[in-house]
Amino acid sequence: MGAIQAIRGTRDILPEEVAYWQQVETIATQILTQALYQEIRTPIFEPTELFERGIGEATDIVGKEMYTFRDRGERSITLRPEGTAGVVRAFIEHNLFASGGVQRLWYKGGMFRYERPQAGRQRQFHQIGVEVIGSSDPRADVEVIAIATDLLQTLGLKTLKLTINSVGRGEDRAAYREALVSYFTPYKDELDKDSQERLNRNPLRILDSKDEKTQKIAQNAPKIIDYLGDESHKHFDRVQHLLTNLSIDYQINPRLVRGLDYYTHTAFEIISDDLGAQATVCGGGRYDGLVRELGGPDTPAVGWAIGMERLIILLQQLQQSPVIAPDFYMVSRGEKAESQALILAQKLRGAGFKVELDLSGSAFGKQFKRADRSGAAACLVLGEAEADNNTVQLKWMATQEQQAIAQAELFRNIENLRQEIKRHKN
Ligand code: ATP
Ligand code: MG
Repeated sequence: MGAIQAIRGTRDILPEEVAYWQQVETIATQILTQALYQEIRTPIFEPTELFERGIGEATDIVGKEMYTFRDRGERSITLRPEGTAGVVRAFIEHNLFASGGVQRLWYKGGMFRYERPQAGRQRQFHQIGVEVIGSSDPRADVEVIAIATDLLQTLGLKTLKLTINSVGRGEDRAAYREALVSYFTPYKDELDKDSQERLNRNPLRILDSKDEKTQKIAQNAPKIIDYLGDESHKHFDRVQHLLTNLSIDYQINPRLVRGLDYYTHTAFEIISDDLGAQATVCGGGRYDGLVRELGGPDTPAVGWAIGMERLIILLQQLQQSPVIAPDFYMVSRGEKAESQALILAQKLRGAGFKVELDLSGSAFGKQFKRADRSGAAACLVLGEAEADNNTVQLKWMATQEQQAIAQAELFRNIENLRQEIKRHKN
């Protein structure tokens, strides 16, 4: 029988790569906790209607990318294609607005979109995202941007570019939409097929097209900034002022409109030159219309999502996989010694040491070779003689110094032992 393979557009993340993922998750948790963001975990599948209403039927995601199926109870269910709709549903369902203040939430997890798989684009992918719900203040927009920037910089990614734009408010967009339709209609036959369809349904999305010819035509399209009302201008100006105050560099991209209908005011992307066609690492913006759209009270909000796979690709270009070497490698032989070694390993782990236990039962020489390869600072050796008198041989790998000590002696001064390990690892 043939072996079964992972489904197209999904992939296994093997241990060497997981080290990068854990690094990102650890640093993200730290940075988000410092800003008092709280993690929220919502289900991986939701009622299909949530995404139809929350993302909008005219978008690519809802139109052609969702994993939608009927469960055994005939409900229409969709694997989440993004995180915001679920977080907002939870916000409404659990009356999180009742507390009145601002909710700062973050999430991480798998997302699902039926797209053409390529580097940095998968059918199951992962995001880390934040949502600040309950503030219309431009400082909230800038806070989330600053956190994304801080996270990426702390990870060592210093050459990313922030681009921003404003999509204004619904009223501003009505007039802009008309201007776009008038502009693109004479070019209709030259646009790519998707964009032709979008011309009347969702002309803003034409600006988002990845087709070269369409992009060229879009170069001279009317700019949304010329259609913004006073309030939208004020918000956008304030955001720019605050970014400058924080020394966060940005460029304005007048064609940045984001794919989703519920966005208002600020839209932004953080892009890299090192990712080929899939250049956007982080996308976000303000979505003042979403909470009401999903049946909650009128509540402004702003957030972003970082694509983990693209981020990891960048980190892999930058640094070797972080390797984890044991503090102690346990070598033992003979039944009594082996059972003592097991106990000792557990105790040392409990005291905070990283301990790898050799399970082979093979000759000492072979076990020592593996100890060498493991990169351990020290080897703990238990043979029959040691087992009989409750001692252990402590062998420092770098210097090959070896001494016999009582097993209990290891725990007499843990801090001292920790320092010794540290010294030998350098
Ligand atoms: P793109 O234009 O690249 O399709 P998008 O506008 O659909 O991106 P968002 O919905 O804003 O993306 O999602 C935020 C981030 O999630 C993206 O910037 C990207 O890093 C990541 N992302 C989106 N779709 C995928 C995918 N299919 N595979 C891997 N990462 C993805
Ligand atoms: Mg997309």
